[in-house]
Amino acid sequence: MRPPILFPLFADIRTLPGVGPKLEKLIAKVAGPLLRDLVLDLPVGVIDRSYRPRLAEAETGRIATAEVNVLEHLPPKVKHLPYKVRVSDNSAVMDLVFFHARADWLKQMLPPGSRRVISGRIERFKEQLQMAHPDHVVAPEEAASLPQHEAVYSLTEGLPSRVMAKAVRAALERLPVLPEWQDAAFRKTRGFEDFHAALMTAHAPVHEADLSPQTPARQRLAYDELLANQLALTLIRAHLRQDKGRSITGDGRLKAKAIATLPFALTDAQLGALAEIEADMKSPKRMLRLLQGDVGSGKTVVSLLAMLGAAEAGLQAALMAPTELLVRQHCATLEPFCAAAGVKLAALTGREKARERILTDLKAGKIDVLIGTHALFSEDVDFRDLGLVVVDEQHRFGVTQRMSLQGKGRADVLVMTATPIPRTLALTAYGDMDVSKIAGRPPGRQEVETRVMSADRLDELIHHLRLALDRGERAYWVCPLVEESEKIDLAAAEERAAMLQATLGLPVGLVHGKLKAAERDSAMAAFKAGETRLLVATTVIEVGVDVPEATIMVVEHAERFGLAQLHQLRGRVGRGKAKSSCLLVYHGALGETAKTRLQTLRETDDGFVIAEKDLELRGPGEMLGRRQSGEAEFRLADLAAHRDLLAAAHDDARLVLAQDPQLQSTRGQVLRVLLYLFGRDEAVRYLRTG
Ligand code: ADP
Ligand code: MG
Repeated sequence: MRPPILFPLFADIRTLPGVGPKLEKLIAKVAGPLLRDLVLDLPVGVIDRSYRPRLAEAETGRIATAEVNVLEHLPPKVKHLPYKVRVSDNSAVMDLVFFHARADWLKQMLPPGSRRVISGRIERFKEQLQMAHPDHVVAPEEAASLPQHEAVYSLTEGLPSRVMAKAVRAALERLPVLPEWQDAAFRKTRGFEDFHAALMTAHAPVHEADLSPQTPARQRLAYDELLANQLALTLIRAHLRQDKGRSITGDGRLKAKAIATLPFALTDAQLGALAEIEADMKSPKRMLRLLQGDVGSGKTVVSLLAMLGAAEAGLQAALMAPTELLVRQHCATLEPFCAAAGVKLAALTGREKARERILTDLKAGKIDVLIGTHALFSEDVDFRDLGLVVVDEQHRFGVTQRMSLQGKGRADVLVMTATPIPRTLALTAYGDMDVSKIAGRPPGRQEVETRVMSADRLDELIHHLRLALDRGERAYWVCPLVEESEKIDLAAAEERAAMLQATLGLPVGLVHGKLKAAERDSAMAAFKAGETRLLVATTVIEVGVDVPEATIMVVEHAERFGLAQLHQLRGRVGRGKAKSSCLLVYHGALGETAKTRLQTLRETDDGFVIAEKDLELRGPGEMLGRRQSGEAEFRLADLAAHRDLLAAAHDDARLVLAQDPQLQSTRGQVLRVLLYLFGRDEAVRYLRTG
């Protein structure tokens, strides 16, 4: 139950004076539907109205405030021209300019012969002073009501700044005084105000500097949000851990058989990770481990051996992958090893004809390892005894999805991520899962030569591509998909495939998200088999595809991709023995950020370096795939700027919950308020009431 003290903040914005259905929609779009969302929507700019020059000396382009006499109204002589109201402050004459304004309204606001205080941006049109649509027009006796400094909020079309600011002010008036949830000593050393005061300060910027994430007010608020995040994750983790787990100890016989059939020796990094996983499985506590490793670092085989360990102990294992394509691929990769070990493998993606049979066999324990998409966790999928769940490439799954999966039964959980997440992000997205890392790549890998080129040189590129394909090499050609105009992008990819096919005189494969799964599989299979040597794709190949014979990766509109994404794409080549290259093609002129991004890729192949840079350039939300996992987004915290606060919040959360696991002490009760305030209710579910 939400604490009553928060009720006012969880009212709809519609309850604010002057906010009707139309405004409600616009405000909800930029901030959210509740008063809570408005008060947590901090300004992005500030207008300073303290500049009060004599008009004759007013600087063009500045926001100025002046007291003036209204001289005369000049209605437009021709339609479509603006309506002007001439005013003067005795030093100069200025025209207030209005487009599409009603004369009667203007007459009422600016009666000729009256005195008015006006505020807005000074402009000059052919030496004539002008102010288009003044922000404020008030009678001199009301001048005191004119704000000296005005907060500017994120806006959307049709939502005027003043209206938004007014709505936020009205919401702030309803802000209850909340009990302090921060540790008193911590607050004191940091010099933080209380929550209420900090919000008021953050909403009343005077200078640009007040918008910095480093102001004490913004730091305080960011800390609150991070603390809520860390508490929630720690609670969820504790909940998962409390499910007993069990000791899973393999005798190594299946593992030995599989290792004997591997065409390579495991690297030290792989062995190290495997040892950590096995130790966790052996422990009676439930495993919650994150296996981080760059693309192609060899995580799959590690997970295979862990799954065989479960099978040795007579338990089942499940491997979840984000796409059907990857499920098929994992199946194909793991099948021979499972066969060698005498372990029964099956796939479940939701479109098997054999689904019923698989489910029956699963229940009967005739299947040891089940690979599938999230279809694995539909209600009717019933394991005989599930010992280990492996989640592959999980950044494609939402936080909630992941949580619900982990909540299932008492299986050990291993999450593999190919996006090397900086520690900062790992903490906020996973809480403190234990982490194993596979650093580096398996031996014998070639560096991928990375080149950045303009689309002007596409002909030259195609020429070289033809030579390479003639030599029997295989290439990916990626055309980006931008969500807003998927149709157009798709058309572009189709057109590109047709053009390449015509130019090269070779069959060209095409895969994209709109294809039926079977069609996509057959296109991939043809490429894997070498029947098509060029594969045009939208980013569906981004995740995990393994075709060691592919040596060339062309990425069109590389400027539209994030760093991590490009790194993933590049990881699709350089998987075999042959020398590989990655060609990043940009269209048009390159912006600064895009330039830095492509430059970074040219300079380094270290996923962790790239991830840190990516965080710097893009912000955390996008990096975790904002769309897939909306929960990763913060309102107030800026992970790049507030790293130290995150670390502090992390420690604070652990300490608090160690002493008060059910949040029942006085501070604990108040922290519950914090959790609700930031919408981390799902964590509160794991607490006893009271
Ligand atoms: P990831 O899942 O981490 O992206 P994979 O498990 O798909 O990486 O491994 C990439 C490729 O490297 C696969 O073709 C795999 O067979 C190969 N590989 C894995 N481990 C080794 C190793 N120790 N030595 C050589 N090749 C390896
Ligand atoms: Mg993989």
